[in-house]
Amino acid sequence: MPAYLDNAATTKPCEDAVNACVAAMTENYGNPSSLHKIGLNAELAVTDARKAIAAALVCQPECITFTSGATEANNTLILGAAENYGKRRKKIVVSAVEHPSVEETMKLLEKNGFEVVRIRPQRDGSVDAEEFISAADHNTCLVSCMYVNNETGAIMPVRRIFTQIKRLYPECITHCDAVQAFMKIPIKTADLNADLITVSGHKVHAPKGVGAMYIRKGIRIAPRMIGGGQEKGLRSGTEAVPLISAFGAAVRTQLPTIATANANAEELCGRLRKKLSALDYITINSNAEEQCPFILNFSVNGIRSEIMLHFLESKNIYVSSGSACSKGGHSSVLTAMGIPDRTADSAIRVSFSRMSSCGEVEALVTAIQEGYLTLAKR
Ligand code: PMP
Repeated sequence: MPAYLDNAATTKPCEDAVNACVAAMTENYGNPSSLHKIGLNAELAVTDARKAIAAALVCQPECITFTSGATEANNTLILGAAENYGKRRKKIVVSAVEHPSVEETMKLLEKNGFEVVRIRPQRDGSVDAEEFISAADHNTCLVSCMYVNNETGAIMPVRRIFTQIKRLYPECITHCDAVQAFMKIPIKTADLNADLITVSGHKVHAPKGVGAMYIRKGIRIAPRMIGGGQEKGLRSGTEAVPLISAFGAAVRTQLPTIATANANAEELCGRLRKKLSALDYITINSNAEEQCPFILNFSVNGIRSEIMLHFLESKNIYVSSGSACSKGGHSSVLTAMGIPDRTADSAIRVSFSRMSSCGEVEALVTAIQEGYLTLAKR
């Protein structure tokens, strides 16, 4: 059995998701826009899935729009908000450690005349709420901050930032990329004070290629995809019924046991942290005051990430070097935290899911020790 510890990159689809996906391809294969019964059944499946995502975010189903994933959702929400709310107010405040689907969108907006202020993380990986808030002003149309960082697991003070921003600048739009928090940290949209939220299916045991965006009632977002007017005109294109059904099924199954899954992750992460801290050649990079237990980033000093990653792979253990998105490139997140290049070059990201086990942690620790003894000699 492989020890799959790369769940922040993607997760294994759960049984209910697979069954829902197959059912939508074999039985319920209609087009939700068709007027006949088979079409109606497909539409009902999408409606059901929408209700499941809305229940998980504690919002009304009308506020949920399905997309092809979080990348599309981040692009659409940020560009759409800038288009509608940034005609006169040209400033955007964002964390400096966002996923590329946010960061690259910000760069595009900069080219189009927006001023983007990036708030650097502190040494522990989280951003300072006060610094974030004081960077905004009456000229700010959008603030965007991820909930949990995908490389370090640092929990950002999003609720504090958004609540304060809304109090000081009610007209400013708040966006949260909640991909790594969704189904791990309970999210209540109203409580978070977010106007816009992004989530992804494949990080929560649904298939790749589906995500959703929450858009608070009354917020106008210009669509990126135009055509047939599906998803109330916000996202044209025939709905990916199999993927959407699977996303709904995964979320529905997991929702009642978020607390149990979290307790399991706490136990595994705590155990791993303790065992690694006892090794003098390990530096733990995930040290935020509030840390999501599903991600632990550490460096095996003196051994480059890819070398250790492939050693672990030879033992049937799968982890990530920095973030899967950077494809082995230098982690800008660790660098922004002020972590020296040599340490960043040795970074390993372990990420758990609700399917992770104690045996996997034990196998990992044994393999790291063996790997260090073998590789450090070379
Ligand atoms: N945001 C974050 C924080 C992520 O971790 C990811 C996935 N790596 C994305 C956005 C993009 O998600 P998707 O693969 O669904 O486009």
